[in-house]
Amino acid sequence: MSQQVIPYGKQYITETDIQAVVETLQSDYLTQGPKIKEFEDAFAQYVGSKYAVAVANGTAALHLNCLALNIKEGDKVITTPITFAASANCIRYCGGEVVFADIDPETYLLDINKVRELLEASSKGTYKGIIPVDFAGRAVDLEAFRKLADEFDLWIIEDSCHSPGGYFTDSKGQKQNCGNGEFADLAIFSFHPVKHIAAGEGGMITTNDVDLYKKLLKLRTHGITKDESSYENSIEFAGGESDYPAWYMEMQELGYNYRLTDFQAALGLSQLKRADEGLERRRDIAKKYFNAFEGKDFIKDQSGVVEGHAYHLYVIEVEDRLGLYNHLRTNKIFAQIHYIPTHLMPYYRQFGWKVGDRPIAETYYRHCISLPMFPTLTDEEQQFVIDKITEYYK
Ligand SMILES: *Cc1c(COP(=O)(O)O)cnc(C)c1O
Repeated sequence: MSQQVIPYGKQYITETDIQAVVETLQSDYLTQGPKIKEFEDAFAQYVGSKYAVAVANGTAALHLNCLALNIKEGDKVITTPITFAASANCIRYCGGEVVFADIDPETYLLDINKVRELLEASSKGTYKGIIPVDFAGRAVDLEAFRKLADEFDLWIIEDSCHSPGGYFTDSKGQKQNCGNGEFADLAIFSFHPVKHIAAGEGGMITTNDVDLYKKLLKLRTHGITKDESSYENSIEFAGGESDYPAWYMEMQELGYNYRLTDFQAALGLSQLKRADEGLERRRDIAKKYFNAFEGKDFIKDQSGVVEGHAYHLYVIEVEDRLGLYNHLRTNKIFAQIHYIPTHLMPYYRQFGWKVGDRPIAETYYRHCISLPMFPTLTDEEQQFVIDKITEYYK
């Protein structure tokens, strides 16, 4: 069966999505029109945050967050090595120093105990913030991270690119959605085609902090504002008499053009309406993988079925990973590896990072493989994947 390639992730575009984009293309707005605010409001409601800011992509979202939090040359920020490079790169955009802490071997998430060890080994004020990542879709326990961050006066940026719709349960038994702003200062999402919600490119920042929200709106468009109440120059200078003239605006900070287009927002909005459906399908796929591999001795570990997990990825750890990867590829199953530890990328090695520095992440990297996981994966395709894996280890 299956002559078609089965990738590890894939977008799902419906006729309704296409209609939404076409309608926007026929409207008066191509970039940042009414669909942006509509998408922001719907997204904020979906994750349960007060504010949301739509931007060009997830990396731009991370960069703007680092600017809004005022990261400067030499500031130290902690993140995980098992993530997409952008989670760390945003710190470098602002001249900060990236400090990678090791992962927890069970959850694959940034290990809070390792973070504490780093913080306690330096004088207070050495570190400025933490960027935990809801890796694979598994929600970080941000309540615990908030406590730690408060002890050391740190901010938190939650990289939720893998986890729209994910949640963890806090100490009071409450579900806390990824990106809801309850514990993290800022959170970010991506609308790249492999993510849950596809908009071509696109990103979202969520927060409950009104000051950060206003700052982000400005930074998204060149640092320019048209909010009269914040103007610094006088009405007289602006060329008005008793009011600021309609043409007037101020560039108050050094911002960027990180806007999202209106037709991308329309696509994101249309996809968001189906997000829960997709999430449910992802959880079903996870359950089927888990049951198929439970107790099999070739599986070193698999993340299992975890409550609140958004299953952007389904990762297993196996012996002879290269052999399995090649066997799957021969059968047109394009599994993927997430991730090559960021601290060992040549760019980061120049700062002194070397093999052996983060042993748990490095061991994980030698065994991990992400299996096909996307809502339109059919039962037959998934069974084919399972059969080919089982066959390899026979
Ligand atoms: C995809 C991703 C990003 C970057 O998002 P883009 O929209 O591709 O810029 C950042 N962090 C993580 C964890 C991601 O998966």
